[in-house]
Amino acid sequence: MYTCSVCGKTLKLKRSLDRHMTQFHSLAAPATDPNPEPEAIPEAIPEAAELKIQAPPKRDYYCIDCGYSPIRKGTTACPKCGGAFDWGAIE
Ligand SMILES: [Zn+2]
Ligand SMILES: [Zn+2]
Repeated sequence: MYTCSVCGKTLKLKRSLDRHMTQFHSLAAPATDPNPEPEAIPEAIPEAAELKIQAPPKRDYYCIDCGYSPIRKGTTACPKCGGAFDWGAIE
């Protein structure tokens, strides 16, 4: 959708707007228009922006044998069932 900047009339096609400008306002259409539809720019979403700057959630590990949680990374054995942990596969 194109909007006449002079009278506010909306036209579906760029060439219709060009013709409208020439016929009704005696204005030649600009050769190039870097922003043909400024209204199409989506509004910023503040909630999404806030999510980006939040720290990543703290990760809790749990014992795969008994389900005990939380297990701190680097713990060598489960305090509940005594199962050994291998942290080599976890980054
Ligand atoms: Zn107009
Ligand atoms: Zn366990």
